[in-house]
Amino acid sequence: MNKRTYLLFWILGLLVLSGFSQTSLKTVVAEKGDGIYSLLRKQGLSPAKHYGHFIALNKDILWDSIHLFQGREYVLPPVEVGSGDRKTTTLKKEPKVLKESLFGKEHALVTVKSNKLNGAVYYLVSGHGGPDPGAVASYKGKMIAEDEYAYDITLRLAKKLMSHGAETYIIVQDPNDGIRDYKILEIDRDEVVYPNQKIPLNQLQRLRQRVDVVNQLYRKNKGKYQRLIVTHVDSRSKGQNIDVFFYHHEKSRNGKHLAESIHETFLNKYRKYQPNRVYEGTFEDRSGLYLIKNTLPAMAYIEVGNIRNRKDQRRILEPNNRQAVANWISEGIILDRTRKSR
Ligand SMILES: [Zn+2]
Repeated sequence: MNKRTYLLFWILGLLVLSGFSQTSLKTVVAEKGDGIYSLLRKQGLSPAKHYGHFIALNKDILWDSIHLFQGREYVLPPVEVGSGDRKTTTLKKEPKVLKESLFGKEHALVTVKSNKLNGAVYYLVSGHGGPDPGAVASYKGKMIAEDEYAYDITLRLAKKLMSHGAETYIIVQDPNDGIRDYKILEIDRDEVVYPNQKIPLNQLQRLRQRVDVVNQLYRKNKGKYQRLIVTHVDSRSKGQNIDVFFYHHEKSRNGKHLAESIHETFLNKYRKYQPNRVYEGTFEDRSGLYLIKNTLPAMAYIEVGNIRNRKDQRRILEPNNRQAVANWISEGIILDRTRKSR
């Protein structure tokens, strides 16, 4: 069954269920500035739990599939009553499906498989973007740029985190790229910074823009478990045969734990899948980096190899490898989160 058919069955299921329930569905009018998250929260509904239901119920009155029209009436997902209720039990069995159009048509639907990252907030920043392509190189006569590959890995990571229940913010966004399952990712300049800010050319302004956005969101989400992941593909140590480097702020214990957990996951994966390969990446302090110094959430700064290095290119250009890198980072993040909650 393909995803669309599946979703259709799921919606039909919901409709049948709601038909049987004693109370009719509650509706609410979207106010100025309302997003699905804030609307649900105001109604006392957990966005993590009800987001997918809400989208399914209101599919035809959302723009770009996930945004509300101010002043329109929306149906709220049915609230689950007593746990002994048979209808409730059926509802709970349905996997939650989220939609993120930034992932592109083929990857937009996210099935939530676990709640391991429930309550956690992640900010994902992919390096460069907009007028700044980052490191560039040529591959078989084509120009390739760091920002496109960092972005693809970041989207794959975002999808993974969402599938484990995390609240995920993609800070650098490209409205029309999505997750791309091919080797040569075309260079473009239309990336923006959350929610829709043009990226300035000046380096300091560019960095300050993303720092400000992350810090604003951090303050808004105060009290929650929050982490920042920054991804680049341009290791500075060009002479070495580098795999992946991890950095954190020297004064941040939480950042250190996060970087260590991801590092540890990579070590284990290399041992498991490539026993002959020596893992040379390591984390070290890089407090001179503007982002590390100025962002509020604990963070890990990851350099996924060097786009100019021939050997790294082979790895980074292969979509399956980018997926593996994203999977491993997500596993490290889950490891860090699990340790924290103990
Ligand atoms: Zn970079």
